[in-house]
Amino acid sequence: RDIYGSERRNSRGINLDIQSHWLPLQAALSDWMSRQWSGAPIVDGHRLTGLGRPVCCPWDLERQVGDVIWATCPQVGSAITGLAAAFADWNARPVSERAEIIERFADRLEEHLPELMALCSLEAGKSLQDGLDEVREAVDFCRYYAHRARQDFAVVSLPGPTGESNELYLQGRGVMVCISPWNFPVAIFVGQMVAALLSGNTVAAKPAEQTTLLAVRCVELLLESGLPPQVLALLLGDGEQVGSVLTADPRIAGVVFTGSLATAQLINRALAERAGPIATLIAETGGQNAMLVDSTALPEQVIRDVLHSAFASAGQRCSALRVLYLQEDIADQVIELLKGAMAELQVGDPSRRDVDLGPVIDDEARHNLLRHIDRLTAEGRLIAQTPLPADANGHFIAPSAFRLERLDQLDREHFGPVLHVITWRSDELDEIIAQINNSGFGLTLGVHSRNEQTAAYIDQRVRIGNVYINRNQIGAVVGVQPFGGQGLSGTGPKAGGPHYLVRMATERTRTINT
Ligand code: GLU
Repeated sequence: RDIYGSERRNSRGINLDIQSHWLPLQAALSDWMSRQWSGAPIVDGHRLTGLGRPVCCPWDLERQVGDVIWATCPQVGSAITGLAAAFADWNARPVSERAEIIERFADRLEEHLPELMALCSLEAGKSLQDGLDEVREAVDFCRYYAHRARQDFAVVSLPGPTGESNELYLQGRGVMVCISPWNFPVAIFVGQMVAALLSGNTVAAKPAEQTTLLAVRCVELLLESGLPPQVLALLLGDGEQVGSVLTADPRIAGVVFTGSLATAQLINRALAERAGPIATLIAETGGQNAMLVDSTALPEQVIRDVLHSAFASAGQRCSALRVLYLQEDIADQVIELLKGAMAELQVGDPSRRDVDLGPVIDDEARHNLLRHIDRLTAEGRLIAQTPLPADANGHFIAPSAFRLERLDQLDREHFGPVLHVITWRSDELDEIIAQINNSGFGLTLGVHSRNEQTAAYIDQRVRIGNVYINRNQIGAVVGVQPFGGQGLSGTGPKAGGPHYLVRMATERTRTINT
């Protein structure tokens, strides 16, 4: 039961190591792994036509997963016209009706788990575990937000001194633009979209151009769940062609964005410069996430959590650990363990169950990471590097750990499996906290200490959205660990938290003279 006393459960887990869970899934997966998909923008329930472009697999460059059509600028404009016209009716529907559609969608996502897992692997290079977690998170977002919507959108009566009746309630804002990233192509794509729809908005969804096929399948399943086709437009394309047209349009009420800081700043400027009402921006961007380890920590536990936080999903999570601060008394021991553990990591075809890390998303990401790795290697900073398989034919990056002296030696976030290690003396704790706060980012922080006072001291002084003590720092659970940062890391409200829908909505007070 939640604090309001009503029942809601997150989705049931599947354990890929238990044969009775794995075997049926494996059979279904192998069927999907050989399929081809074809994607197109969807407006008013119809697929738009155009020239298809190939979608390639990031871990097998010879393999084409399917093809996709992008939307044109005029198509984006007319989609917004339709969404603006559909707003009033959708916003007037009882919230329970909207919630039931989204709950049916959650069921359909669960039914299509094998297909979505296969496509997560083929299109986004995700490991099977990541694909599974991804679909479960999307399902949890649907059910959590539907549950929240029923509470948040209830009408509150406010007693007044006069004979009037006063009511306060939430309403949709209008046309919301949802711009989602490739690193959570199902969970974040679905989470943003359903939250905006549940809140009474009509939605223009623009997924990352790297993961369009997954977005198409999700939207098809949502329409099959009974969503009125005129309230959602799926606009495929890149930021230049589609994103910038959407964010410049005076008819949109707001933007929900997850992605890079640079793009968030671009969107912020576009919204400010356009004509029309002041738009809402909900942005979740990156981090320069640290973990602070003091000499009381348990080294084996630290290594387990470092490995998971830095290298799971090939480090392509905005929550991922980038900078490990080791107190000097424990540093040598942890670094030795780290070298051993990194030598055991398996990099390769992410559709295999025994592989820990798949590729990074594309060639551009790979090149940027290689430049950073080459620079730090040339400076003699390499601590450990996991070898790549000899036959790798994809956008693979060898997980790497480097030694640094200070956080400001990092020019920006490096979005991949690269860990930086800094050693600190016990009298430097305040200085480290200042370094972390001065970076301007504030997404996740890990702390490993068996000294409760040290953990509390750090926790009270950092400006960070999600602080994790004595555990890993990724994989926030919907409704349990609401997720989102501060400062350069985002505007809030937290995804999977109780305030998310409220920001998508506007308040109405209705007074009737009875
Ligand atoms: N919510 C995810 C986590 O806790 C990260 C989301 C992101 O990378 O955008 O790991």
